Amino acid sequence: MVPMESTGATTMEKIVSLAKRRGFVFPGSEIYGGLRGTWDLGPLGVALNNNIKREWWKMFVLDREDMYGLDAAILMNEKVWEASGHTGAGFSDPVVECMKCNHRFRADHLENTETCPDCGGTLGDAKDFNLMFETKVGAEGTAKSYLRPETAQGIFVNFKNVVDSMSPKIPFGIAQIGKAFRNEIAPREFLFRVREFEQMEIEYFVKEVEWEDHFEKLRSDIQTWHRHLGLSDGNVREYEVPENDLAHYSKRTIDFEYNYPGKGFDELAGFAYRTDHDLKNHQQHSGVSMEYIEPDGSRFIPHVLEPSFGVGRALTAVLCEAYREDEMGGETRTYLKLPAHLAPYRVAVSPLLKNRPPLVEKAREVFTMLKKEFGNVAWDDNGNVGKRYRRQDEIGTPHCIVIDFETLGEEQPGLKDTVTVRDRDTGEQQRVQINELINYLK
Ligand code: ATP
Repeated sequence: MVPMESTGATTMEKIVSLAKRRGFVFPGSEIYGGLRGTWDLGPLGVALNNNIKREWWKMFVLDREDMYGLDAAILMNEKVWEASGHTGAGFSDPVVECMKCNHRFRADHLENTETCPDCGGTLGDAKDFNLMFETKVGAEGTAKSYLRPETAQGIFVNFKNVVDSMSPKIPFGIAQIGKAFRNEIAPREFLFRVREFEQMEIEYFVKEVEWEDHFEKLRSDIQTWHRHLGLSDGNVREYEVPENDLAHYSKRTIDFEYNYPGKGFDELAGFAYRTDHDLKNHQQHSGVSMEYIEPDGSRFIPHVLEPSFGVGRALTAVLCEAYREDEMGGETRTYLKLPAHLAPYRVAVSPLLKNRPPLVEKAREVFTMLKKEFGNVAWDDNGNVGKRYRRQDEIGTPHCIVIDFETLGEEQPGLKDTVTVRDRDTGEQQRVQINELINYLK
């Protein structure tokens, strides 16, 4: 086997290539030449993505008493985006075009705004470019709408509905996971900057005087979440956005950044104190009161803290963190050291030989038992056992179980009803009783 280093590929290129080869992430519309800024999740990618979303929902919604879930429509009344400021200059990026090769760039991402980084030609003046995708609603197409560029506004416009239906006690949060769309000028770097992505967002409503307390609590919850994703502390850092860079409505913003290989630290998630800006604006534009009424009758517009996560950036960080190469049995091997709660498959089961019915039958029994317990269990009888291990290593399956002649009691009667359990990270193998397997894996 040729060591991967000799191909000269960067770690990120290797991850993108593994992601495609093993069914995690495919370029969008690939057979038609693709569509820039779009990616499709394959069978393993959707499993990993769902695991990330499920763990997030569990941590931030199910395990807490102060959070309420929501799933708002992607298409919203155009007035929502006027109230939020997204139709104006507030949601535009400055774009410059090369007069020679016509390539476009984000002016704020260029070091030199006069010379084209691709061909050396002269760049034109920067123009504002709104990132929202516009669409028309209905057969007459008279109503304008947009594909939402963030899930947050769906939460604000339902603030009153949630308060009226659930009677939450302040402080409380509303959480939502869903798609968002931005017509990014220069989509790049795998899932990092795309035109269609998923967000996991919370609007946490508090009394103004308590915002700092709750900011610190949520900040620590976000740190816990990043550890739960398996991201090491050294690869995640907090960037305190300086006052002169804050959005006009924000009094404090922290960007949580991940150390992407070859790219360095860049945004993974955002956390902002947005004052009462959003609810106040919606009250003004809709004419509907956004006040919260206390049991004693006092009323006020709550202030809001917004933790905002991109699922794709989390998935990228998880893959980057997990990607490993080492030497095993004299060969270079690639594996994903994914946490068990995120791995697409919790465990893989195989019969030593697929043409021996007693082995297959026993393996099927073990497979069915584990599938009932964990759900995401792989059946793998392709190729020889060594090849199966390599394949499962590459997709991050924490354990492989092999049913052999000893399991059937044909070699050593003492080993009857035991199986081989191989550990992904160390390659070590142990004999475990079948009726002990579930506990062992847990
Ligand atoms: P950036 O500065 O990188 O453009 P942003 O500050 O505009 O990001 P927010 O509006 O705060 O991002 O969105 C919240 C989160 O949504 C981000 O932290 C990121 O995880 C995710 N996100 C935003 N834009 C994109 C995109 N184009 N592709 C993938 N994820 C995105």
